[in-house]
Amino acid sequence: RGCGKTTSARILARCLNCVEGPTAAPCGVCRSCVDLARGGPGSIDVIEIDAASHGGVDDARDLRERAFFAPVASRFKIYIVDEAHMVTAAGFNALLKLVEEPPPHAKFIFATTEPEKVIGTIRSRTHHYPFRLVPPRTLSSYLSEICEAEGVQIDQTVLPLVVRAGGGSVRDALSVLDQLLGGAAETGVDYEQAAALLGYTPDTLLDDIMDAFAAGDSSAVFRTIDKVIETGQDPRRFAEDLLRRLRDLVILAAVPTAVEDGILEVSGDQSERLKTQAAGMGSGELTRAAEVIAVGLTEMRGTTAPRLHLELMCARVLLPGADVDERGLHARMDRLERRVGMMGPADAPAEVPAQQQAAPPTRQAAPPAQQAPPTRQQPPPEPEPERPVPQAEDPTAPRPMRRPAGDPPRQRPAGAPPSSDASPAAPSSTPPPTPAPTPAPPTSTPGKLGTAEMRRAWPTVLEEVKRRRRFTYMLLSQHAQVQDVQEGMLVLGFANAGARDNFGSGGSHDILVDAIIETLGVELRIQGVVANEELAQRGQRSPGAAPEPPPASMPDRDPEPPPEPEYAEMSDDDEEFDGGTNAEELLGREFGAEIISVDEDPEEPT
Ligand SMILES: [Zn+2]
Repeated sequence: RGCGKTTSARILARCLNCVEGPTAAPCGVCRSCVDLARGGPGSIDVIEIDAASHGGVDDARDLRERAFFAPVASRFKIYIVDEAHMVTAAGFNALLKLVEEPPPHAKFIFATTEPEKVIGTIRSRTHHYPFRLVPPRTLSSYLSEICEAEGVQIDQTVLPLVVRAGGGSVRDALSVLDQLLGGAAETGVDYEQAAALLGYTPDTLLDDIMDAFAAGDSSAVFRTIDKVIETGQDPRRFAEDLLRRLRDLVILAAVPTAVEDGILEVSGDQSERLKTQAAGMGSGELTRAAEVIAVGLTEMRGTTAPRLHLELMCARVLLPGADVDERGLHARMDRLERRVGMMGPADAPAEVPAQQQAAPPTRQAAPPAQQAPPTRQQPPPEPEPERPVPQAEDPTAPRPMRRPAGDPPRQRPAGAPPSSDASPAAPSSTPPPTPAPTPAPPTSTPGKLGTAEMRRAWPTVLEEVKRRRRFTYMLLSQHAQVQDVQEGMLVLGFANAGARDNFGSGGSHDILVDAIIETLGVELRIQGVVANEELAQRGQRSPGAAPEPPPASMPDRDPEPPPEPEYAEMSDDDEEFDGGTNAEELLGREFGAEIISVDEDPEEPT
């Protein structure tokens, strides 16, 4: 419905009957083209039949008789039978002979929404072209074009509402738009007006309740429900819109670039808000909440007390402890285990690692923060370097993860140069001036929780990354390793600049951030550095010993990801990991080679 079947049939007729034709590009100037153009008088040889009103056997017989007369002015006599499924069985039978052996000048185009209702003998003698609903993005830009052409002021945030109301049908969307414009003031259509006219739940209410869910603030949840009722919203509609919002968040949690990719149709500032909400709840909780609401919605149908149901539903979302199904338990146990594993023996919290302090509280603090300025981005505020200072002074501050100063360094110090203990002080005040030479020190410094824990948890993080995106997993598992974690900053050493740049672009960065949040419950900034560059530079500084430095530090990092299996694991379908990349990497590592220029031709090895 409204996806262009009849319009396409007319265009096809125009193509067939053009003087220049039959052609895919009608000239637009010949008589047939002018007659059949939009707003034209129509051609006498193109007969449109609405089967809804003329689908009887008499109409079919009439058509059959007239079809044998030659066309008046055009090449073909074209019958467009709209709503063909409405033709009666007798009518189809009367047409059958004609469709089976049509006179050479006759063409039939059947348009229908229910092809299965067209009798098989007709169907088997026709070509089929299925039509799909128009994708929201296309429809949205089309509507925007129309508004511009008509000189109508319309808020860009209104268009997604119209598209949603149209349900993929251009005709329906246009009629919704028409209604909105009809009721619009001089200044055009704004969002609140459109949402109210179309009966959608205002986004502010959905934001309120999502923020309250994320914060676990039950009083805010029930106050929002009260507001829903007071403002005259239908509880069922609200639950539906809430489910839709949860769906958006679930997708956003899984595909961080969903807004940019157009998977989600939301406006710019709304996308920031959604991102904050998605990060506040986490994909597991979001999925569970969506399930609870979806089940609740079916129960809500036909109930006499929809508000009660809505409230009970929301109470269930608020109480993850009440959920005893396997998935909920597993998710929660996973998280607990990871946190316990990160804590280590509980003694002497003398040196409280900065990033551990900063991260977990912010994760809990994030949801309330969204309520005030919803457009605020989450990532920047998280691991502020200044944060640890006040928190370290405040003994009442919750410290879910601390690590003792005297924890044995079970992990190997990755490439630790002897100058280790001197450096931690400097980077802690100035975040990452020279990340690569300094990474090792904190590793070997006991009590600095970051690097060792991250190394230990790295396989788990990688598993999570793999679940989200295979490409990022390949990139990280084969080319990157944890060099350092401090001040809420994870420094990743990449085997070459290409791998680092790959990581920086294309959303891999965000996927890793999310994977770390998911597995460890902390949000870290991530910086990619090129490990080999550092080694190469060190080699140049002390000529003569040029090949030496890499091996000197290599043994430390080599055992972790053995280089040989790397290539063996490489799969052919990842074009990023083709022979060229590996050759560069190998040459760089083994011979200290540097890329001077890259040939444009991919066939030529560099
Ligand atoms: Zn023409």
